[in-house]
Amino acid sequence: MTKTTTPLSESQVKAWLGDVKDPEIPVISIADLGVLYDVTVDNNEVLVTILPTYSGCPAMDTMQEDIVEHLKQQGVDQVRVVVKNTPAWTTDRITKQGRRQLQAYGIAPPLEKSGQPISCPQCGSTNTTCISQFGSTACKALYRCEDCLEPFDYFKCHV
Ligand SMILES: [Zn+2]
Repeated sequence: MTKTTTPLSESQVKAWLGDVKDPEIPVISIADLGVLYDVTVDNNEVLVTILPTYSGCPAMDTMQEDIVEHLKQQGVDQVRVVVKNTPAWTTDRITKQGRRQLQAYGIAPPLEKSGQPISCPQCGSTNTTCISQFGSTACKALYRCEDCLEPFDYFKCHV
């Protein structure tokens, strides 16, 4: 087993993990998604704590493997990923940058306040209709814009 010569810092590990993307939405990092909860380094053993998004989301397994794989590429061999259920992940944890990335990817970001209309990520129109509560994944609902007639995914609110 190769040992890294310089001690690892938590901020360094966090910076590396900034490149780990959500397996379902490859434009947003797990940090911007708010899934990355904590990083601790103890004697070069890295403990990464993540919060699951939607229970049973199959992406969580992939995410854990991605974290381990990504840190391995940086020479970190001892990585433990812990999935924590408290505090519960909510869509409020998605950063401002993350919300912009979702929108740019064509996914309407979750509403910050409930009761607002969902706007089309293509043209910004709020004249939108829910076609299905289940979009391409369980985390998303399928909407259609009545102005540009484009269907789009809405990242469901989760509080
Ligand atoms: Zn539109």
